[in-house]
Formats: sequence, C-alpha cells, structure tokens
Amino acid sequence: MAKVKVISAWLDACAGCHMSFLDIDEAIIGLADKIELLATPITDFKEFTPADVGIIEGAISNEHDEEVAKQIRANCKILMVWGDCAVFGGIVSMRNLFSNEEVLDRYYSTESTTINSKIPCSEELPPLVKVKPINQVVKVDCYVPGCPPSAKAILYALSELLEGRIPVLPSETMRYD
Ligand code: SF4
Repeated sequence: MAKVKVISAWLDACAGCHMSFLDIDEAIIGLADKIELLATPITDFKEFTPADVGIIEGAISNEHDEEVAKQIRANCKILMVWGDCAVFGGIVSMRNLFSNEEVLDRYYSTESTTINSKIPCSEELPPLVKVKPINQVVKVDCYVPGCPPSAKAILYALSELLEGRIPVLPSETMRYD
C-alpha cells in the first residue's frame, strides 16, 4: 500500500509540538512504514509538494507565516493543526496586547544582550501582523490542542487519519494548558 505523504511546518512556535510528536518513541517505527515525511522541519526539506496530510504548528504572526499556511493548505488534502498556538493563537497571541513598535523596542532595546543593538530593518523581513490561529487564514480539518499536545494525542490523531477517519480526540488525551 502506498505510504501517506505528510508535509509540515512550524510557524510562530517553540518547536515543542513537533518534539511531542517525536515523543511517541518506538511507535514511530510503525508509523514510518505507513507515512512518508516530505517537507517538514524534521526532514529539513523546504519545498512543499502535494501530500495527503498537512500539519501546522504555531500561530500566524507575520506575512511569511500566512504564505506558508496557504502553501501547505494548497498542497494537502487534510490539514491538521498541532498545539494551542495553531489552534487558538496560544501564548504567542499575548503579543497582541502591544503594538509592533513596543514589542520590537522591548526585545531589541531593553532585553537585548548585544551592545548597541538596534531594531533590524530590511525589506527581506516579513512585516508583523496581528497574531492569529491558523483557521483565520486557511480552512482547518482537524485540531489537536495542548501546549504541547501529548504524544498520545498526536499518535491517536495520526493513526485515525491513516485509517481514513477525521480524528475526534478522546477526552483523556485532550489538554488545554
Ligand atoms: S502550543 Fe506550546 S509547545 Fe506548541 S508551539 Fe505553542 S508554545 Fe510551543
């Protein structure tokens, strides 16, 4: 049977959700027989190609994030989002309490440990946008909340998708922390 092709990305995130995926430990051996990871932070392939499942970790907080979310959506049949940042905006959305100028000033002028630091300014840097969850930019088919979601929840969601079902997570696997 052909393997299920998977693409994934982390946007404004801490990588914890993908780390939680790796915490499925030896179950990854069984998954490896059934899925093929194409462009993901794990494989470090960056060009998105058509896949069966797309996965996004992290919130959208700049124009590049919006573009990546649209690229993944355009290349996958089912889009699953991992973690509170992608599902709700999560801890990243605390930034919305402040203006972009206040955030950048705090980071580069107050907290920076670099002598004479200054706020980066380049046309290559994507403009910041109001932080939002993925479903405010593209259609999402499946949500796995938690910060991070447990490895058990991630494995369950992937296993259900492999069986051709949109996962409905059992309550004992759900986290809202
Ligand atoms: S949901 Fe939590 S673990 Fe996942 S990217 Fe956000 S802060 Fe990190």
